[in-house]
Order: sequence, then structure tokens, then C-alpha cells
Amino acid sequence: EAKHLGGDGIVVFDRDLELRHQYRQTLKKGLKNALARSELRVFYQPQMHLESGLITGAEALVRWQHEELGQVSPADFIPVAEDDGLVVEIGAWVMLQACRECTRWSQYYGRPLAVSVNVSARQMLHSNLLLTVERVLSDSGLSPSQLELEITESVAISARESVASQMQALVSMGVTIALDDFGTGYSSLSYLNLLPVNNLKIDRSFVQGLPQDNVQASSVRAIIGLARNLGLGTIAEGVETRAQSDCLARLGCQIIQGYWLGKPMSDVQFREFLSGRRSLLAV
Ligand code: C2E
Ligand code: MG
Ligand code: MG
Ligand code: MG
Repeated sequence: EAKHLGGDGIVVFDRDLELRHQYRQTLKKGLKNALARSELRVFYQPQMHLESGLITGAEALVRWQHEELGQVSPADFIPVAEDDGLVVEIGAWVMLQACRECTRWSQYYGRPLAVSVNVSARQMLHSNLLLTVERVLSDSGLSPSQLELEITESVAISARESVASQMQALVSMGVTIALDDFGTGYSSLSYLNLLPVNNLKIDRSFVQGLPQDNVQASSVRAIIGLARNLGLGTIAEGVETRAQSDCLARLGCQIIQGYWLGKPMSDVQFREFLSGRRSLLAV
């Protein structure tokens, strides 16, 4: 079939679309019950301050164990949840789990840790995010300064007045804002003037080629320079090797996150990870 050209190509394309559509419908149906059936879990990926070697906290990443499909990637189901509006409920649930866990780890680690939670466009634009954050903080007992919200550049770019004022209110509460996947959008950067942002998360695509790739190294250097000039912090994502970590340290990046430090893990595993780190520090 693949040998046929022209019209057949279109047929194959259509069937592909049809399959994708069916898959999304399956996900959409399943998602409605996923929370009630306890099929969702939150995993945590550690973040480390490069200069001190201290663990600063973790990013919360949602996981879905579907009864028939098995593990479904958030890259697949978050967009579906976003279209459907379910992401508002799922996002609030993730935030509550993450903040509760973070309160426990901080006691365990003996110093305040931070947790980063991804916030989708829909949550930012259409829901009363402010109320959710207030409720989650009071339910979990977490200090606002320990909660970081990650928004993507595209949300920031499409920012309307309502988003800017919502973000301003969050920052006034003491919550931190990070720009996720920074450098992958087609932005003029002018939104950085308009929006209150604390940290830039340097996208994995810039980290991959370090230390050899000159273009990527220059990009990372430029992002870190920009962050410095604006008084923002830097977090590099997708750090997979010692060489990448060393290079980022040389370039002046503050915090790293990636498989080299640890893959996303359950809360129990993260506590074990912390205890390993704590004994390292005690030596
Ligand atoms: P993200 O926020 O940019 O998260 C980073 C992704 O990179 C995660 O994929 C993480 O597992 C992966 N990663 C981390 N370190 C490495 C590394 O060293 N190498 C490689 N190759 N990958 C690494 P994951 O968990 O599949 O999540 C995908 C995306 O789904 C996230 O990208 C985020 O945009 C979204 N997402 C995840 N959880 C949530 C959530 O609770 N709410 C919302 N709205 N979105 C979420
Ligand atoms: Mg993120
Ligand atoms: Mg990211
Ligand atoms: Mg990314």
C-alpha cells in the first residue's frame, strides 16, 4: 500500500487521522473516570542547585495508568484534558497532592523544599486559578514561597490582561512563576516586560548538544545572560550527563533537572532519594 502514490496517500493520511481521533476519544472517555478510579498518580523529578549541590525541590509530573492502554503519557492526555476542560480538575488535584507531599518532604529533609506544578493554558485562562491555589495552600499547609507554577511561553505570549493580573496576584501571594520550555516559542520576548516571571526553564532541546554543540552552548549562554539582566533564575531541564551538568555550571546556570540527577519517581522513591542526599550532606 505504501508503494501507491497520489490518491492512496490521502487515504492513508485520512485513516491515520481517524485512528488519532479514535484514540483521543478513548482517552477523553477514560479521563472522565480516571480521577474517581484513582488511575492518576503524581511523580516527582528532583531539582538541584549546582553551586551547593543542595536539592531545591522537585517538579510534579502527572502519570496515568489506563486499565487497557497501560501507561499513557501526559504529552498525549494533557492536550485532550485541555480541550475537554477536565484539565482544570486534574490540575487542581495534582497541585494538592504535590503541595501535601512537599510539606512532608520539607520536614523530612530539614529545610524548605519547593515543588513546581505545570499549569496549562486552560487553567490560566478560564478557571479561577487564584482560588484553587489559595485553597490548596491552606489545605496542605505549604508556604506560598514553596510553590512554583510552570507556564509555557505560548501561554505567556497569548497573555491577555486577565492572565497578567492573575499572575500578578499569584506573585503578590508569594508564589513563584517559571516559564517552561523557554526558548522554543517564537516570541519577541516583549512579554517578559509585561508579565511577572521569576525563573526561566531552559528547554531540553538546548541542553541536548552540550558541551560540544556551539550553537546550543551560545543559546544557553544567551538565555542565562538574559535571565541575569532581568534578575531571573535559571533551571535547565533534560540534563542527562555529567558533561552537560558541568557545562551548565560553567555557563552560570543555577539549577538542573534531568535523568542524570533522577528520573520522575513516586513520592516514596523521592523520600528515599532525599535520605540518600541528606547523609551525603551530613558527611
Ligand atoms: P515538561 O513540563 O517540560 O516536563 C519535562 C518532561 O521532560 C517530562 O516528561 C519529563 O519526564 C521529561 N524529562 C525530564 N528529564 C529528562 C531527561 O533528562 N531526558 C529526557 N529525554 N526527558 C526528560 P513527561 O513527564 O512525559 O511530561 C510531558 C509534559 O506533559 C510536561 O512537559 C508538561 O508539559 C506536561 N505535564 C506533565 N504533568 C502535567 C500536569 O500535571 N499538568 C499539566 N498541565 N501538564 C503536565
Ligand atoms: Mg514543566
Ligand atoms: Mg519543561
Ligand atoms: Mg521541555
